[in-house]
Amino acid sequence: MANPVTNLRVEDKLYQNRYLVDSGRPHIKVRPHEQPSANLVALTLVCPAKCYESNDKGQVEITADGCMECGTCRVLCEASGEIEWNYPRGGFGVLFKFG
Ligand code: SF4
Repeated sequence: MANPVTNLRVEDKLYQNRYLVDSGRPHIKVRPHEQPSANLVALTLVCPAKCYESNDKGQVEITADGCMECGTCRVLCEASGEIEWNYPRGGFGVLFKFG
């Protein structure tokens, strides 16, 4: 007999997560820049929550709502100072249902 939980796709499981927005206090910020580095641009492709986007000037922006705290952007861009990365304040951020 098929197990309805294990047969779910990853996307379906991620949909079960909930996110509590800390309004006005994003836990990740992108340093203002004119031209983004290759790593910063890469975040628009590799962030699993699609938090990063390029604006019409080619600059990379973040909307941290929905961040899963996977740390990928932290590894790629924190050391260079291109982003400021912190965990959300207690009680805010992602609430994993199947994590
Ligand atoms: S920590 Fe992961 S999910 Fe959150 S913004 Fe960075 S890459 Fe995206």
